[in-house]
Amino acid sequence: MSTKQSIVDLRSDTLTSPSKAMRKAMAAAEVGDDVFGEDPSVNALQERVAQSLGKAAALFVPSGTMANLLAITAQTKPGDSVLLHEDAHPFQYEGGGMSMVAGVMPKTLTGPQGLLTPESVAEGIMLARDPHRSHTTLVSIEQTTNRGGGACYSTESIKSIGALCDKHGIRLHCDGARLFNAVVADGVDAATYSAPCHTVSFCFSKGLGCPAGSVLAGDKETIEKAHRYRKMLGGGMRQVGILAAAAEYALDHNIERLAEDHRRTAALREALEGIPKISLPLPSPTNILFIDVPNAPDFADRCNVRGVRVLPFSPTRLRAVFHLDVDDNGLQRAIDVMTATARQYASA
Ligand SMILES: *Cc1c(COP(=O)(O)O)cnc(C)c1O
Repeated sequence: MSTKQSIVDLRSDTLTSPSKAMRKAMAAAEVGDDVFGEDPSVNALQERVAQSLGKAAALFVPSGTMANLLAITAQTKPGDSVLLHEDAHPFQYEGGGMSMVAGVMPKTLTGPQGLLTPESVAEGIMLARDPHRSHTTLVSIEQTTNRGGGACYSTESIKSIGALCDKHGIRLHCDGARLFNAVVADGVDAATYSAPCHTVSFCFSKGLGCPAGSVLAGDKETIEKAHRYRKMLGGGMRQVGILAAAAEYALDHNIERLAEDHRRTAALREALEGIPKISLPLPSPTNILFIDVPNAPDFADRCNVRGVRVLPFSPTRLRAVFHLDVDDNGLQRAIDVMTATARQYASA
């Protein structure tokens, strides 16, 4: 490895640094106090996002975690239950916020690749007319599924789940942290995915390459409630048009290129297929590849000393995620280093 080579960091698609052009857009942003509703860049971004998702309103928030928490808090009351996949981000990685802040009970379901099926949702719903039960008032789906290997819900599946929710007066939230990976992978526009959902969030800080920021969209009344809870939780920011400008830049320049991340993910998969000591437990239709190895922390350490970073996800599972700071050279280095590391195990 030449000393000039930088680290190829595949641990997460949150590890990108804002590009020069993005920083330039940020530096030029018109700003105002957003708690006063006076940041023109934030207002413009919120309008643009609402329109592109086919919703009446949108709210810029610091993180995807807060977007999910606001969606849950605004659409439930304490004692209700929220139906979601056992691998869903709000259940796995959001510090129990829904229980502490919204006072709701998560009810988890299983399903292939982190996806709920309309059948599992139908079985999981708990109705108010049974006094023993905590009434299901919200279903939350994830597009794409993080722990499920970046799998995408089909439009049909979201529609069926949405129809079930509507039938029972239940709200449907889409945690679309990687919504645009699904948009690009399946050629479906974001508004089509969003139509059956009452609220939709997505992250600017993942594949879109921004330093921070997420957005929650929905009907006016729900977004007004979310706005109030955002303030309550300390998410009211001031001259945050600087971040909104990064988000605008990302919407203009960083969506179509997600296809390159998907291509590189598929290429790494192909290169690792059939290599002794490596198995690929899940499909990888977008930018997330799970890799099973004999000892994940050790395997990751061995790759790390050769300049390639992957995330130990469990004792035997690694995660590699492609993003806009990894190019074809990075891909090739990841292939070389991971195959060489697997060979060390095979010959040990
Ligand atoms: C990353 C992620 C979030 C939110 O993450 P933040 O780090 O809080 O922005 C939510 N859902 C999914 C599926 C994610 O991958």
